[in-house]
Amino acid sequence: MSQKIKDVKKSCGPESKALFGMLPDELGGLMAELGQKGYRATQIAEALYRQRVTGLDGMTALPATLRGQLEAAGYSVGLPEIVQTARSGDGTERYLIRLADGETVETVWMPDGDGGERGDGSEASLEEEVAEGLEGNASEFGEQRRDLRNLGALEQSGYSRATICISSQVGCAVNCQFCLTAKLGIKRNLTAGEIAGQVAAALNRHGVKIGKDRINLVFMGMGEPFLNYDEFIRSVHLLVRSIGIPESRMTVSTSGIEPSIRKFAHEPLRPKLALSLNASNDVVREQIMPITRKWKIGDLLDAVRTLPLGKREWVTFEYVLLGGVNDQPEHAREVLELLKGMKAKVNLIVWNPGPGIAYTQPKPEDVAVFQKMLIDGGMPTYIRRPRGRDIYAACGQLKRTVSEEQPQLVEIR
Ligand code: SAH
Ligand code: SF4
Repeated sequence: MSQKIKDVKKSCGPESKALFGMLPDELGGLMAELGQKGYRATQIAEALYRQRVTGLDGMTALPATLRGQLEAAGYSVGLPEIVQTARSGDGTERYLIRLADGETVETVWMPDGDGGERGDGSEASLEEEVAEGLEGNASEFGEQRRDLRNLGALEQSGYSRATICISSQVGCAVNCQFCLTAKLGIKRNLTAGEIAGQVAAALNRHGVKIGKDRINLVFMGMGEPFLNYDEFIRSVHLLVRSIGIPESRMTVSTSGIEPSIRKFAHEPLRPKLALSLNASNDVVREQIMPITRKWKIGDLLDAVRTLPLGKREWVTFEYVLLGGVNDQPEHAREVLELLKGMKAKVNLIVWNPGPGIAYTQPKPEDVAVFQKMLIDGGMPTYIRRPRGRDIYAACGQLKRTVSEEQPQLVEIR
């Protein structure tokens, strides 16, 4: 267990106010309140978001008197804390993260890219790999990325390439019938600091240097980011402007909250969009995603069409394949019809099973036919490689798993 992680423990408590999560101008306001000069806010932001200190005593640029003043005013760094870690055979790590009020969420670290988990499989990313002189990029369909299974070697090399999957809510209200997170119901929204804090905690654990190491983010963990829209957008600002991860390396996935998609289209700073389509018509979608009663596929696609896409930007449509439900050739034909003329790609996700969910996985031959039909119809289509399925870290498997359910627990604190 690293010293850094121990330090986190000291720095958060339910009674304290978190500095982590405050935007630079808010820190400026706080310094003014405390009778301090404005440049102290810059120093605090630097310590919080660039150095990612875990306690006030790590803010060495500040005089001890100011640190004391902050403490006396009830402030702490307030980074969420990794309290449990499970590591999969494929190198994926799942973290149980505890928030200041004792609630927990899960965050997933996927080394070696994501095999499409981030939902874009973009050409841009391949070009970047070549530019960075890395060997072995994606196979024809972005599935087989460079194999760096030996995480120990990866850590020692001092170079990290990973995708972090972060949660936006404690639980989820959307109630998709195939998803384990849905079983939790909704407990509460996360704050922007708690969303970005998951990233900082994972980066600290792996000693990542922003600027040198290559990190992608996917808002695809627990919760529906577009039902926690303001805090989600605020976290994007923190992550881009303060922590230093470009928005081009981020993808947000939504089950389809139409008004939020329309708002999102006007954001000056926004990740790429992935829409969880998951069905080829409203009848099937309503069965598996009851939220379809509120917003029909056509409404969602109209909203998606308002996105001003960059040159290298596509909208990703995620499609969870459920055996016998939405995985047949007629469904593939309907998907092609729906997405005709859109600058889009499709990520097929083989359904990850979970206890108490009565679906079956699709047959491999059905998956292959489905993908081929879409590709033959002109739609770039990828099959997402499941990551960390053995530790319940794959899509739709995040549910704050308690220890006895964890098949391969490597570290409990
Ligand atoms: N709430 C957002 C983001 C989190 S879910 C959304 O629904 O888009 C991330 C992805 O996991 C979604 O595309 C969802 O359809 C998919 N998913 C959920 N449960 C799954 C499961 N059991 N197996 C495979 N994919 C699943
Ligand atoms: Fe919520 Fe996404 Fe799961 Fe649906 S798939 S219940 S929106 S987390």
